[in-house]
Amino acid sequence: MSMSIGQNLRQIQSSLPEDVGLVAVSKFHPATDIMEAYAAGQHIFGESHEQELRVKVPVLPKDIQWHFIGHLQTNKVKYIAPYIYMIEAVDSLKLLKEINKQATRCGRVIKVLLELHIAEETTKYGFSLDDCRALLADGEWRALKNVDICGLMMMASLTDNEEQIRHEMLVAANFFDEVKTRYFAEYPSFCERSWGMSDDYKIACQCRSTLVRIGTAIFGQRVY
Ligand SMILES: *Cc1c(COP(=O)(O)O)cnc(C)c1O
Repeated sequence: MSMSIGQNLRQIQSSLPEDVGLVAVSKFHPATDIMEAYAAGQHIFGESHEQELRVKVPVLPKDIQWHFIGHLQTNKVKYIAPYIYMIEAVDSLKLLKEINKQATRCGRVIKVLLELHIAEETTKYGFSLDDCRALLADGEWRALKNVDICGLMMMASLTDNEEQIRHEMLVAANFFDEVKTRYFAEYPSFCERSWGMSDDYKIACQCRSTLVRIGTAIFGQRVY
């Protein structure tokens, strides 16, 4: 027998360490499913398409914290800037500057994470560690007062090899320590490590994740 969204959520919540937050990834699932999760106490949701958010946000509770977790084109930032809680996958200075510009227009400060590319897949977005170091060393980000850089995000390789997943997540965790010490020691809000999805969140919890992004294990398979 399949379990309900509420039961899935409770099971996952009870298996997460207290200091790990849960982003319920609702992309491709209808607003009714989101309401079911909301009724079960989940108020943080992740989506990866602006067009989908455009449809869902107006019909859902106003206190939902929406995380944008997909690749974001700069020309889409203006549409989500009025309400988005966190943009998790910032992978260029250009995008960071556009978020700052649109946040300024809205009179907001938008939380962002810098996305790292550590996985072996060539198709994934994100900064190489060296490109991320270069961005931070350059220092232009310091002038962007309407973005709050809250940490790092990454997706591990899609593989059954747990040791590889663990290795990639620990590379990300070590890199977090490096940049926290060098650039963000005075920024208490730089504290998030977003890694772990349905198939690897248990490993992520052992690799210092603070935020797991889980879709399928809550809502079931997506129908694209
Ligand atoms: C879809 C998606 C997830 C959730 O994946 P599941 O395997 O369904 O848990 C997490 N992170 C990102 C960036 C995604 O695009």
